[in-house]
Amino acid sequence: MTTALARATELGGPLPARVRVAIVGTGFAGIATAIGLMRSGRHDFVLLERAEALGGTWRDNSYPGCACDVPSHLYSFSFAPNPDWTRAFSPQPEIEAYLHRTAEEYGVLPHIRYGAELEGAVWDEAEQIWHLTTARGELDAELLVLGTGGLSDPAIPAIPGLDAFAGTTFHSATWDHDHDLRGQRVAVIGTGASAIQFVPAIQPQVGHLTLFQRTAPWVLPRRDRAIRSNERRLYRRFPALQRAARTAIYWGREAWVLGFSFDQRIMELGEKQAHAFLAKQVPDPELRAKLTPHFRLGCKRVLLSNTYFPALTQPNVDVVTEHIREIRPHAVVTADGVEHPADTIIFGTGFRVTDPPIAERIVGRSGITLTEHWASGGMRALHGAMTSGFPNLVYLVGPNTGLGHSSIVFIIETQVGYLLDALRQLDARGLATLEPKPEVEAAYNSEVQKRLQKTVWSTGGCASWYLDKNGRNTTLWPTFTFTFRRKLRRCDLGNYVTTARRSRTPKVAA
Ligand code: NAP
Repeated sequence: MTTALARATELGGPLPARVRVAIVGTGFAGIATAIGLMRSGRHDFVLLERAEALGGTWRDNSYPGCACDVPSHLYSFSFAPNPDWTRAFSPQPEIEAYLHRTAEEYGVLPHIRYGAELEGAVWDEAEQIWHLTTARGELDAELLVLGTGGLSDPAIPAIPGLDAFAGTTFHSATWDHDHDLRGQRVAVIGTGASAIQFVPAIQPQVGHLTLFQRTAPWVLPRRDRAIRSNERRLYRRFPALQRAARTAIYWGREAWVLGFSFDQRIMELGEKQAHAFLAKQVPDPELRAKLTPHFRLGCKRVLLSNTYFPALTQPNVDVVTEHIREIRPHAVVTADGVEHPADTIIFGTGFRVTDPPIAERIVGRSGITLTEHWASGGMRALHGAMTSGFPNLVYLVGPNTGLGHSSIVFIIETQVGYLLDALRQLDARGLATLEPKPEVEAAYNSEVQKRLQKTVWSTGGCASWYLDKNGRNTTLWPTFTFTFRRKLRRCDLGNYVTTARRSRTPKVAA
């Protein structure tokens, strides 16, 4: 085998010239779509993966301590329960392994092309097709499904002087496992869901850790536990038991929506618990004051950790609340002029959620990108997936589908079910394309925005990644997840502009 061919085989074979469906990404969304297509008898699809392994955010986020903060019985596919979870909240390697296993069991692997980053997608109205350019070549797709999620592209703040830093820098989602942190002076920027997991994991090894906190988050106890082998055996023997556990977790989590979206007085109970937890874990009043949040619980993602606060009380840790002014070759400098020496800077600064880079690469019917289309008014779509002007584009986990309380896998499965229903109807009627009627999309989004106005995410007194640069919440679903599922139970083609399938004109060689 030639080297080029060997490499192509390793990366999953050559690209097909044309497919019915091209799926971008192999995280939960991409894999769910692939399995859904196959279960409905459709095999003419390809998954385009930019990396050389599958797994999406659960492949990339391999930082020490990474785990899910939604219980595993719920944070998994409904059709592929895993009786072997070893903990209530699974660590990242188990989730990544689960995705691998599920993709393999359902026959997804042969459809994946690795190293095939989507570089551009242009809708061809005459041909009713998406022309795709990837890092491995070109192909055409009748339907383009973006399974790229919201947490795929790291956000690194443009701090003056960063380029001149003499040490090592990396982001939590691109952890440098070859870099030895032992004895190092480490600066951590950010105190979100990622940082609160990796800070306690690295604190015992590092020489000194300076944690730069812009906003103190709310932290509640993490009710994790080992799932013992006899319990696992029971789940394997009686799958109904695991389904019951999943259902109980689902409804427990839905109850949070009452506080987020309907009556914020409920959040006061959680705040009391969080204050007591902080007081118990952080005896030093000065440090406790720094770590006390000043906004309503839930306005930012509620964090769960039993080890975060104790790590911050250790003698090798400083919590700095002054804003960062600049970075020098060997230090981070804060607004008060203090130099905080650092050999390594780790960014726990989150992701590009409201300005996803993939949207810059998608060119719709009128020749503008999705980013340009969203430039005024922010990200929006019908059912968080379909956008007028972009026929046959399905953006899974798109605008206003995120959750502050439950499993995104539930949302993904709901959208995939809807997509399959749409495909079934298109095929039955000999239709080739669909895109939402602008007025239907607008009405849907104004209802979503209206519902969001009274939620804790809008009124809770914080800035968060849920809001775009204009303060509009373009990321979260405003209410119960069962409401989302009810809305998407069936695809009503009356909400879409559709076009009939045209016979393909054979290309004449010049
Ligand atoms: P994040 O929640 O967006 O947190 C980013 C942190 O960086 C915040 O503390 C933010 O401060 C800070 N920051 C950003 N820019 C900064 C700057 N220029 N200077 C100083 N600080 C800055 O990101 P994340 O922790 O990676 O989490 C993102 C999401 O991923 C989570 O909300 C969650 O949905 C998901 N996640 C889930 C898990 C899990 O399941 N366990 C784990 C990790 C992540 P401000 O608060 O002031 O903005």
